[in-house]
Amino acid sequence: MKTVLITGASSGLGAHFARVLAAEGWQVQLAARRLDKIAELTRKIDAAGGRAEAVEMDVTDAASVAEGFANLSRAPDAVINNAGISGEGSAMEMSEEMFTSVLDTNLKGAFLVSQQAARAMKETGGVIVNIASILGLRVAGGVSAYTTSKAALIQMTKAHALEWARYGIRVNALCPGYIETPLNREFFETDAGKALIRRIPQRRLGRLSDLDAPLLMLLSDGAAYVTGCALPVDGGHLVSSL
Ligand code: NAD
Repeated sequence: MKTVLITGASSGLGAHFARVLAAEGWQVQLAARRLDKIAELTRKIDAAGGRAEAVEMDVTDAASVAEGFANLSRAPDAVINNAGISGEGSAMEMSEEMFTSVLDTNLKGAFLVSQQAARAMKETGGVIVNIASILGLRVAGGVSAYTTSKAALIQMTKAHALEWARYGIRVNALCPGYIETPLNREFFETDAGKALIRRIPQRRLGRLSDLDAPLLMLLSDGAAYVTGCALPVDGGHLVSSL
């Protein structure tokens, strides 16, 4: 049974990936800042016949990441760098704390986790998937720190793919478009939200399940020759007409 570590697994995409990968036969290692936030998900996966373990990890803190890896029952075969924050607000008004916090979580966090993962995978090979965003490939207003962090995450994906290919470690980025989650559902019912949906060529938001096959593909042995890519899953949003 292969093992996958998922950061930020307590909600949204991370919790979804955990359920999907457990059902596909992976042993899932759920990482979150607070263990109580993942206790129920861990129990549910176990009750459904899957195998899950919970690990405490704040991705912005190198000591916490190192301790989290040390506490795992075994080294992961795959890692999904999913933890992320959005940090909305105009660039002119944004506080230094907000900018730093977005970059620390979305970029430095993925770096710290990838570094530990690569050290653990050096002899065996492995797979790293960084959850970036279409906002790493294009920009939108009011999310400057976020788009900056995700663009850098995509560049880091390529740099790590280059450095770690010799160890059999593949590194790719998944770039979701706008995926409907409980957190953003209200926004997409507003006029601004509906206008945004009209700009997506497929005229709909992404569903969590739209990410499943692309993620499973990147993790699969069949993708052995795929590394350093940034795969958009966005209903064509990036190719919308100018
Ligand atoms: P979410 O807020 O539900 O999930 C983010 C998770 O990261 C949370 O569980 C949070 O607790 C965790 N987290 C935040 N800071 C952390 C830290 N320091 N250490 C450990 N965990 C931390 O949001 P989501 O929509 O599920 O987003 C998951 C990922 O997907 C993010 O990287 C986000 O940028 C990306 N993404 C989401 C969408 C979307 O439409 N929802 C689109 C593109 C990309």
